[in-house]
Amino acid sequence: MPEPTAIDFLIVGAGFAGLVAAERLSRAGFRCVVVDRRGHIAGNAYDAIDDAGVLVHPYGPHYFRTNSPRIVDYLSQFTGWHPVDYRVKSFTRGRYWSFPINLATFEQLIGREATSAEFEAWLAEHREPVETPANSEEVIVSQVGRELYELFFEGYTIKQWNRHPRDLDASVCGRLPIRTDRDDRYLKESFQALPAEGYTRMFERMIAASPGLEVELGTDFREAGGRWQWRHLVFTGPIDEYYGRRFGALPYRTLRFEHESFTADELAARRGISGKDGHWQPEMQVNYPDPEVPFTRIVEIKHATGQDIDASTIVREYPKDWTPDDEPYYPVPAPDAAAAYARYAELAATEENVSFIGRLGTYRYYNMDQVTAMALKEAEKLTARYASEL
Ligand code: FAD
Repeated sequence: MPEPTAIDFLIVGAGFAGLVAAERLSRAGFRCVVVDRRGHIAGNAYDAIDDAGVLVHPYGPHYFRTNSPRIVDYLSQFTGWHPVDYRVKSFTRGRYWSFPINLATFEQLIGREATSAEFEAWLAEHREPVETPANSEEVIVSQVGRELYELFFEGYTIKQWNRHPRDLDASVCGRLPIRTDRDDRYLKESFQALPAEGYTRMFERMIAASPGLEVELGTDFREAGGRWQWRHLVFTGPIDEYYGRRFGALPYRTLRFEHESFTADELAARRGISGKDGHWQPEMQVNYPDPEVPFTRIVEIKHATGQDIDASTIVREYPKDWTPDDEPYYPVPAPDAAAAYARYAELAATEENVSFIGRLGTYRYYNMDQVTAMALKEAEKLTARYASEL
């Protein structure tokens, strides 16, 4: 066995967390190696052209959004942007509903035109006030009442998490806007756009801009660990896996994705159902809250990418509990899971030369902009700590 090669940082994971940290540390003059056990970069944000020629997000749709100009400025070094108003509908009771909840949703509910004032009065009558909502049921019922909660949130959330909303943190359902005007944009953040040529291209440019950075794909940490002698390890994989699951496996939810592609002729046959030429469904995402439908949502990402192509691809998402053969997509946002993670976090806090960052490294439901911010901060800290050793 050859002697391990000395480097400054071994970074496990080539997603937002790992590559942003790698770019910053390489530019600061450190020798960095990134390993990822998948055969591609970009982690869960990976995008690629499928057999029908459609740019898809194979690990689920990734809608970039942020309120932070600093994050936009940083990523804009590596990409231009395609602005998007992410739009969603919900399909229940045999029809498409305007979603997230807004005045048009209320009008559909009562079957006639209404004003914002009427909707506000209706909400005031129906909401069940809770001073500090402690879970996802309380956060929605206290804003819109039980009928709208049951219509759009309860069934969807149970399918997604296999837990009742009252057993999930308030943040899970509290992330969506509820509006009494006609604004039906899905998200609230001030900047909403996709990388103009996709996430994978953005990360290719990030790697190209990182002096001396080596990226090894199809490589697990367990194997690479013996070949590199690092000063510091940045680990963005699952923290329980790093510690051999010694306190038991942390709970994750995962997804099975079912892709289906359509030709221009097949899409034309859906005119009137899809409402838009060249598309299969009326908006980028349609939620299916009904318990008897086995998937949670259908995403047609072409609505968001704006790709100029005749074909289209839709993706149905079937949530399930994680097993060791699956990708651990979602840390479970519930008090018992947080308590199980706390035991690993205690161990991590005793590590001198290992940082845990990213969604899996910190076992927390973070969006891409938040993970970017976390990686920038960690790289700054590590640069200051090791600068004298350069
Ligand atoms: P990841 O992207 O998961 O990267 C971690 C990498 O580490 C993986 O590539 C993995 O292969 C690798 N790895 C793990 N263990 C090892 C090991 N032992 N050896 C080698 N490699 C290893 N965020 C948004 O902002 N907007 C969205 O719309 C959005 N939608 C999402 C939809 C889904 C279905 C999911 C699952 C997430 C979504 N996210 C979204 C969140 C987004 O994916 C994360 O914020 C982001 O990917 C986190 O980056 P990361 O680098 O921490 O993790």
